[in-house]
Amino acid sequence: MTDDLLGRHRAVLPDWLALYYEEPIEITHGEGRHVWDAQGNRYLDFFGGILTTMTAHALPEVTKAVSEQAGRIIHSSTLYLNRPMVELAERIAQLSGIPNARVFFTTSGTEANDTALLLATAYRRSNTVLAMRNSYHGRSFSSVGITGNRGWSPTSLSPLQALYVHGGVRTRGPYAHLGDADFIAACVEDLVDLLGHTRAPAALIAEPIQGVGGFTSPPDGLYAAFREVLRERGILWIADEVQTGWGRTGEHFWGWQAHGRNGPPDIMTFAKGIGNGMSIGGVVARSEIMNCLDSNSISTFGGTQITMAAGLANLNYLLEHDLQGNARRVGGLLIERLRAAAAQVPAVREVRGRGLMIGIEITEPGTDTADPKAAAAVLEAAREGGLLIGKGGGHNTSSLRVAPPLSLNVAEAEEGAAILENALRSIQ
Ligand code: PMP
Repeated sequence: MTDDLLGRHRAVLPDWLALYYEEPIEITHGEGRHVWDAQGNRYLDFFGGILTTMTAHALPEVTKAVSEQAGRIIHSSTLYLNRPMVELAERIAQLSGIPNARVFFTTSGTEANDTALLLATAYRRSNTVLAMRNSYHGRSFSSVGITGNRGWSPTSLSPLQALYVHGGVRTRGPYAHLGDADFIAACVEDLVDLLGHTRAPAALIAEPIQGVGGFTSPPDGLYAAFREVLRERGILWIADEVQTGWGRTGEHFWGWQAHGRNGPPDIMTFAKGIGNGMSIGGVVARSEIMNCLDSNSISTFGGTQITMAAGLANLNYLLEHDLQGNARRVGGLLIERLRAAAAQVPAVREVRGRGLMIGIEITEPGTDTADPKAAAAVLEAAREGGLLIGKGGGHNTSSLRVAPPLSLNVAEAEEGAAILENALRSIQ
């Protein structure tokens, strides 16, 4: 970097603002599933899909909608009627599967979860919240207060009382050796035991598949089983769909649907890629929960016309091109290909995933001991090969995360798999 952007970054931004790579890259532009850095290197982007870019980089439909809206009006999201906000809310309410759904827009996943916690605690008149071990829900005062992943929850004196539940991670912890049905039964027993010692909690907040936690894979039906216990006690279920929503898992439109036997969640949150880079977060809840607040509460930027225009164009593209089906098909191929490659590399403990949400667990060969250094080496080697992937998995960040934009095609999946295969082999 000719003007020492890294030095300037380090001098002025917080130390805790994480940067990937020994030599961090500056991304300057993108198209489709590719991005370019300031030196002109091109990368296949197998991580941006879970961050900002649900469908594709620089998607013309979204660019057009955003620029047209920017040239027309960007005003307060509320106080005046806001047509694109009403339209996107109608679409999301209908897609959510939640009866009598009301939608509130925010600017981030953090603010969405904050709002969900505000609603649940107000509705239930309890400041105790159940959360999953190894979870991530954001960086605000309340969301760090309940985030289970210690690597991402700086000390907070949040007045919320958090209680942590087992089950989000299938491969580690006391029940890892059990089969799926016994695993679920053990986690339910643990939950009942935990509840026996506490004042009635407001809600359980959970990511159907943990994102920052490493694309973990709890058995299908776990949250449905939890739901029975919660419902008997009036405890709400908040599904954090910030990473699992919009068809990413291929089989389902929402991650909670793998646990839907006992109905949809009471509250659901979303964010990240729905605006394809424009800041949209939001909360969906049954009307009596959404309407339980006893005074006004607005978000100046949550739901502005420009972000809503982006969200509508992006959602239309997703549905018209059946990107959920694409995630299922192309993701299925990619998982198969990566599993075959991983079988040759003893440091790969597991390749897990659904659709275009794939986790690769790196351990010391033949053991369950996390190997963050080897995982970091794979990340670097992939980048040298022209592929961007992500990391995750607790403070021992030994999971690699693969989450391309949902429009990934077969040729790109093959190309990325070949690069990743070489990167995995390079750590042997
Ligand atoms: N929930 C989950 C599951 C997330 O992965 C994230 C972001 N990593 C958030 C909430 C917070 O979203 P944001 O960064 O937009 O505040």
